[in-house]
Amino acid sequence: MIDSHCHLDFDAFEHDRNELIARCQQAGISRIMLPGTHQAGWQQQSTLQQAQPMLDISFGLHPYFIRDDWQQQLDYLHTLLGSIQPQAIGEIGLDASLAVPMALQQQILQIQLKLAMSYQLPIILHHRKTHHLLIQALKETQFCYGGVVHGFSGSLQQAQEYLRYGIRLGIGGTITYPRAQKTIATLKALPDDSFMLETDAPDMPLMGAQGQRNTPLQVLKVANAVAHIRGQSVDEIDQLTTANYLATFGLSR
Ligand SMILES: [Zn+2]
Repeated sequence: MIDSHCHLDFDAFEHDRNELIARCQQAGISRIMLPGTHQAGWQQQSTLQQAQPMLDISFGLHPYFIRDDWQQQLDYLHTLLGSIQPQAIGEIGLDASLAVPMALQQQILQIQLKLAMSYQLPIILHHRKTHHLLIQALKETQFCYGGVVHGFSGSLQQAQEYLRYGIRLGIGGTITYPRAQKTIATLKALPDDSFMLETDAPDMPLMGAQGQRNTPLQVLKVANAVAHIRGQSVDEIDQLTTANYLATFGLSR
């Protein structure tokens, strides 16, 4: 089992990170992707990865973390990529709930998409009421190195537009909520090679765990929910989502 999106580098895991990683390994979780959010985190992520090879990492400036120094952070990212090769660029994207002007978010996304292309790296996308704008950005840059749109919620048509650009769908705890009917219907109709599992821990708690810290261990419950919704076995979901993850990030095991 693989958690394709977990912010294990965040302070929420400061006191029990190693213990949690050990518990994940015991539970059969073989890899965890740590998506990047901002400059201070990138170094922390690579330190964690050096100590723990089951962790994969990506570097990117998340829309939540756009500050006045964004240009400086992107320059630093460019330099960093010359010495450390992460598995992906991300998480990057567009979020319509933020006060940061959309035009600025689009400019920063565009720069990072081009960076991913110049290093031939896949991407991890963040969306919030912005599917149409993200698809437009992929189209404009002719992005062709694949990736994942994490925490996907949306229609089958929106899913298919991402898949056309080689972007798979990250399926997380949202599908455990009855209000997610549209996403659940989409998940039922998705082809086997189109999605992967994620927790987005410490955020996105599953139904029944609202207000609690989410952890990568919950990816097992996400897998159960996906299996139930799709009428497949948990083993089958494990195998196909593992294969999809490895293919997306160019990994062999
Ligand atoms: Zn995230």
